[in-house]
Amino acid sequence: MAKVLLQKGKEKRTEEGHPWVYDNEINKVEGTYENGDIVDVYNWKNNFIGRGYINNNSKIRVRILTRKKEEINRDFFMKRIKEAWEYRKMMVDTSSCRVIYGEADFIPGLIVDKFGDYLSVQTLSLGIEKYKDIIVDILDELLNPKGIYERNDVQVRELEGLEQKKGFLKGPFDTKIEIMENEIKMLVDIENGQKTGYYLDQRENRAALKPFVKNARVLDAFTHTGGFALHAAYYGAKDVTAVDISDHALEYVKSNAALNNLQDKIHVVQANVFDILKEYQKNGEKFDVVILDPPAFCKSKSALEGAYRGYKEINLRAMKILNPGGFLVSCSCSHYMYPEIFRAMLLDAANDAKRTLRFIETRYQAKDHPVVSGYDESLYLKCVIMQVL
Ligand code: SAH
Repeated sequence: MAKVLLQKGKEKRTEEGHPWVYDNEINKVEGTYENGDIVDVYNWKNNFIGRGYINNNSKIRVRILTRKKEEINRDFFMKRIKEAWEYRKMMVDTSSCRVIYGEADFIPGLIVDKFGDYLSVQTLSLGIEKYKDIIVDILDELLNPKGIYERNDVQVRELEGLEQKKGFLKGPFDTKIEIMENEIKMLVDIENGQKTGYYLDQRENRAALKPFVKNARVLDAFTHTGGFALHAAYYGAKDVTAVDISDHALEYVKSNAALNNLQDKIHVVQANVFDILKEYQKNGEKFDVVILDPPAFCKSKSALEGAYRGYKEINLRAMKILNPGGFLVSCSCSHYMYPEIFRAMLLDAANDAKRTLRFIETRYQAKDHPVVSGYDESLYLKCVIMQVL
C-alpha cells in the first residue's frame, strides 16, 4: 500500500479529525498506486494519521475512511453502515430519512436517502464508486428496500474523473414515491427531483412552524415541492402562497396539496423570488409569516460577499412585507455563511428595514444529517425563526 507523507505544518487539520488531505499538503508519496486505491497517510514525523482513498484528479487528494490500520472491505462498510443506521433508528422516524451523510458518517463521498421502501444513492468520489456494488449489497441486506436508485447526475463527480449517470441499482419501480413527513403526505420524485429527490434536512424545521401559523397569511418562498407550505396549511394557516422558479417543482406542490386535501388553501406562483418580493413591496402586499429557504448562494469562501448581499436583499424585503408582529423563518444552506455571519446579516437587514427582531429559535439541519467535530463542513443548514416587530 502506498504511503502519503504530509508536509511539516500541514497535518493539524487532518490530525484533528478532518477527513480531507489536499494536494498542496502532501510532501511525497512512497510506493505506487492507482486512482481510487487505498493509501496510508502519515505526518512528517512518520506517525500514522489514517487510511483512505486517493485520487490525483481531485484537489482533495485523499479522503480518510479510518484512523485505524484496518482492512477496507465488506466488513468495514458493513460496520460503518450499521452504525449509521442504528443512529437513525434511535433518533428519527426512519420511514423516510437520510441513512448515510458522507463524511459525517465516516464514509466520505457516500449519500443514501430512504424514501419509504426505496433508497436513493449518490457515490460522489472515485474511491467510494469502487465500492458501490458492495455498498448496495449491504444496504439491500440491512434495510431490505423494494428498490434502489442511483442519483449520480451531479457535477462534482466530474471533478473526480467520473461520468454523470442515473438509473436503477435494484428495480425497476415507479420512481414517484409517496412518503409521510410529520403528519403530511409528500410525493417524492427520486428520478427527476432535486438532489436525491427531496430535502429531508428541513423536516424538523418544517414542524417548527406549528405554533405561529394558525389563521396566518403565509408566503413560502423557494418552496420546491411545498415542504413548508404544506406544513403551514396543515397547521391552520388560512392562505399560503408557494413560490418557486421551477415548474416541475410547482407541479409537485399542486399534487401534494391535493393529496392532503389542502388545495383550497395553497396556491402556487411561478416566479423569481427576488422579483416577486420587490413586487409585493411595491403593491403593499402583507403577510403574517414569510419563509425563505433559498438554494446555496455560495459554494466557496470567496463567494461569501456576493452571497451576503443576496441573503440580505431577500431578508430585508421579507421583513418589509411582514405585518408588525409577523414571523420570519429564514434559512441558509451555504456552509460558508457561518451561523454568526448569518445572524449579523439578519441584524443588518433589520436595521435597514427599521424593524426589531425577536429571535425565537436558531435551528440547524435535521438529526439524520449529523454535525461532527473536526469536519466543519458538516454544518451547513441554518434556520432562524424570528418575530419581526
Ligand atoms: N423549501 C424547500 C427547499 C428549497 S430548495 C423545501 O422545504 O423542500 C430551493 C428551491 O429554490 C428550489 O426548488 C429551486 O427551484 C428554487 N429557486 C432557486 N432560485 C430561485 C429563484 N431565484 N426564485 C425562485 N425560486 C428559486
